[in-house]
Amino acid sequence: MKKTIRDFDLKDKKVIIRVDFNVPIQNNVIVDDTRIKESLETIKYAIDNGAKVILMSHLGRVKDKYDKASLSLRIVATRLSELLEQQVIFVPYTNGLKLRRAVKKLKSGDVLLMENTRFEDIKGNKESSNDAKLGKSWASLGDIFINDAFGTSHRAHASNVGIATNLESGIGFLIERELKTFEPVLTNPKHPFTVILGGAKVADKIPVIKNLVNVADHILIGGGMAYTFLYATGHNVGKSLLDLEHVELCKELLKEYKDKIILPVDSVNSKEIDDNIVPDVRNIDEFFDSEMGLDIGPDTIEQFKYYLEKSKTIVWNGPLGYSELNTFAIGTKSICEILKNVDATKIIGGGDTGAIIEKLGFKDAVTYISTGGGASLELLSGKKLPGIEIINEKDKD
Ligand code: AMP
Repeated sequence: MKKTIRDFDLKDKKVIIRVDFNVPIQNNVIVDDTRIKESLETIKYAIDNGAKVILMSHLGRVKDKYDKASLSLRIVATRLSELLEQQVIFVPYTNGLKLRRAVKKLKSGDVLLMENTRFEDIKGNKESSNDAKLGKSWASLGDIFINDAFGTSHRAHASNVGIATNLESGIGFLIERELKTFEPVLTNPKHPFTVILGGAKVADKIPVIKNLVNVADHILIGGGMAYTFLYATGHNVGKSLLDLEHVELCKELLKEYKDKIILPVDSVNSKEIDDNIVPDVRNIDEFFDSEMGLDIGPDTIEQFKYYLEKSKTIVWNGPLGYSELNTFAIGTKSICEILKNVDATKIIGGGDTGAIIEKLGFKDAVTYISTGGGASLELLSGKKLPGIEIINEKDKD
């Protein structure tokens, strides 16, 4: 078991908390502050327990100095200060004397936010390649390190692994919640356990299938990735997404687990990705060469419903169609409608799937939406997350 923030005496300690403030910003306005709100519990706990709080986060991808203006965390400091109802000291640097002085001046209960950790990527990719010197230098700012950025915990960066290598460390409430949600599913799920997989990239989801196929009762496959599986069973899939490199693997999985892997029986097809057309619903045997499959059809929805209604645990990763357009979001929406009425633990991977479920208004229909797309996918694939692996274990007593 990993140490958590509760396992430390925080009083008068300089506590570095790695948070995920990677919020969407348009025209200098934060369009969704969910990630800031999700960090509040850990930050408030640290304040209430007398810590001197030093927050670090990345924001976007910083390629060169021209990205600095649009990717500053200053705007986040302002929003955080409103949410905490206290001043947040923003330091527009990621190293140097001014940062050290600001840290030194902190009093118990103060909150400081350092500038975007990825500004250190401009010269030498230091943050993203976990530069040893940078991790050590950041660690020297604090006494304790708390990682609460689940969304980047599948990457070894200087601001998570680098700091934790050099300081006593624990996880925050957000990561604790993510682990508590995924662990039982991966080790001892209630059956029937159904996994729904969709999205575009079959390569990303194959490790999930391999890891879960023995513990799950059924794996329902939709979205763009389904067409590579359908191709592997000998179907013409027209101009649909097709990953030829993975066809053989799909064939092997289908051969070994033919009763567990459930593929679409019909498809919503179109010659164009356009919201103003009326697409055709085709049986999977009736594909036209000129068409793309862009959503699961009504018979597939019924088929998926059959498995979902009986389930006690459901994990879903990947939209079931080209759901950015309403025309091809019907499959995803229908599955949300079904889930609303299913009495099961329903866990949604982060990223696109979580975002579309929230956009369609079904957040309350599910048990949990993960805050990390890539990180939750890696957990479901059975991989260890370096940003969490490096955290100290609880003392055994
Ligand atoms: P992924 O990152 O692999 O989960 O893919 C998510 C993306 O898959 C979303 O942008 C969807 O629009 C896209 N997608 C889902 N189904 C299809 C499809 N049938 N054809 C093309 N793109 C799709």
